[in-house]
Amino acid sequence: MKKIGSLLAICLVSQLTVSHLASAASYTVQPGDTVKKISNKYHTSQDRIVNLNKLFSTGLADGQRLEIPNPNKHSVKAGDTISKLSSKYGVSTSKMKRANPQIKDYHPGQKLNVGQNLNVPMKQTTGYYMGNTSKKQIALTFDDGPDNRYTPQILKILKEKGVKATFFVIGEQAKQHPEVLKQIHREGHVIGNHTWDHQNVPQLTDQELENDVQATSEEIEKVTGAKTHLFRPPMGEINDHQVSMLNKQGYRSIIWTADTKDWEGRPSEQIVSAVNKDAAPGVIALQHSYHASGKFETVKALPEIIDQLRAKGYKFVTVPTLIDDIDENEATLYTPGNGEDETGWRATVQKIRDIINDFKETINRLVKKE
Ligand SMILES: [Zn+2]
Repeated sequence: MKKIGSLLAICLVSQLTVSHLASAASYTVQPGDTVKKISNKYHTSQDRIVNLNKLFSTGLADGQRLEIPNPNKHSVKAGDTISKLSSKYGVSTSKMKRANPQIKDYHPGQKLNVGQNLNVPMKQTTGYYMGNTSKKQIALTFDDGPDNRYTPQILKILKEKGVKATFFVIGEQAKQHPEVLKQIHREGHVIGNHTWDHQNVPQLTDQELENDVQATSEEIEKVTGAKTHLFRPPMGEINDHQVSMLNKQGYRSIIWTADTKDWEGRPSEQIVSAVNKDAAPGVIALQHSYHASGKFETVKALPEIIDQLRAKGYKFVTVPTLIDDIDENEATLYTPGNGEDETGWRATVQKIRDIINDFKETINRLVKKE
């Protein structure tokens, strides 16, 4: 029994240090580097690099420092166990199991079959700057509406071209133009929350943010009958704590990868070329469906954007489709009310549960052996 006790102590210590063992590598961008090249070099995906580093574009600058995320896959080597991999990648053993149903019955210390490829779960601690890069898909998004001038014209083009898009709407605008909001919903587009009156999110207290998001979502639901699970912070400004808080309330925070800057009043050719410049699988393109006054050429640019990207082989999908494959293994993370906070009390409780489960399994194994 003494032997078991000391083994358990070792096990406990190793479990407690799991999160501290995973060291984040960093990389300095060299001339000629692209996100794609770096992702290949480190066996990770472009979306993981873009999201972890909060890049508003896939363009890189020489000398820029990047954090390197975990690889997407791990090829099992002799001696690998779930415990070892959990500590290597800084994720809990239960998360490793959830990401790999084929090993769900293994106890954490049990040797895994050599050569099999395991998914390495991702920690989504930031907003989504980019979607799944494994498919040639792009999401068009339109912010700040609905209005009764540009939004109906955008809807008409999307309908003619057979494209489904995502509209991040302002609560106040939704209240003013319920018919247009209803039309967005009726025509199969996805509606997301963009605050009640275009707030600067990092300046809000938790309570203010919660109230704002709730009021806006209630307005959307009142008009369309549909709940929204997407949030886009105005100007793309949001901190990790707020992302995590909204995750717990069932929202995924969506930023973008290609900014058309259409609100500046630039000519349509520049809007088209802005999307073309950043076009890549997984890109979330930002445009607007509202403009207060002056020149605004999004409507003029839109058919061109669609035709040119289609000619290059891109498919248009809504934001949930674009990002859902990323979460494939972690769907439970984003179920409303079941948000997971890597640093909060839920995470601590989960860690303790993991440790207790690992203990039980270790004891069972030792008892059986002796
Ligand atoms: Zn906006």
